[in-house]
Amino acid sequence: MSMSYQSHEFRSRCFALVPCAGVGERAGAGGPKQYHPVAGQPMVAHTLEALMGVARLEAVLVVLSPTDARFESLLPGFESERGWVARVGGATRADSVLAGLDELVARGAQPHDWVLVHDAARCLLQPAWVERLIAACDDDEVGGLLALPVADTLKAAAVDANGRPRSLSTVDRAGKWAAQTPQMFRLGLLRPALLSALGDPDAAARITDEASAIEALGHQPRLVPGDFENFKVTWPGDFALAERLLSTRGPSS
Ligand code: C5P
Repeated sequence: MSMSYQSHEFRSRCFALVPCAGVGERAGAGGPKQYHPVAGQPMVAHTLEALMGVARLEAVLVVLSPTDARFESLLPGFESERGWVARVGGATRADSVLAGLDELVARGAQPHDWVLVHDAARCLLQPAWVERLIAACDDDEVGGLLALPVADTLKAAAVDANGRPRSLSTVDRAGKWAAQTPQMFRLGLLRPALLSALGDPDAAARITDEASAIEALGHQPRLVPGDFENFKVTWPGDFALAERLLSTRGPSS
């Protein structure tokens, strides 16, 4: 039918953007956490393998720090027709993402194309979750992100005179979701959203993900249920958990 042919013709392309320029202080890995070995490979190799397994992704762009000296030697086979690398990382995650968006523009991405930003440190990602996000957001005006409704009771805390954290109060968890990645927005919306957020120093500190920059413009990203295993390796004990989960997965996942 000509209708479906037309909609296929105008289908936006999808690109993945992986900010991989962090220093990973909280993980205590003694170096950038994305290169810490997990199940026999640098953590980011698992992340990139999952993204490269998503056929709908035109290309996967990794944003490295300009001083990164390890990526090429640790992942020698990554750079390819669909595997792109740019050493344009900045001081914050949002700076790294913005620089990556400029790189995508330089490589021909268009304003209506989708960009799926995914943390290098979410190394348990599975292609099926990315496909679920794309299917949910492909015809959405705004875009969206993988996220999970908060199950735990949330505490607001402060440290006492001995430096120990103490609970001050309980934060109502009803209607609260924990944001994961990928976060999927059109290039032509995400770029101005990040530019505007980074232009205001007070706002910039609150922009801890792409969706927060989109919300600041008054838009409401879709929340697409993610998976508990899609956690961000952040604390020292997270590496062992990630390793256990990866080693118990079947070969097809
Ligand atoms: O530090 P955090 O865990 O929030 O980092 C999330 C992701 O953002 C990581 O993949 C990290 O490498 C990346 N990042 C970056 N540039 C920065 C800071 C973090 O690409 N300046």
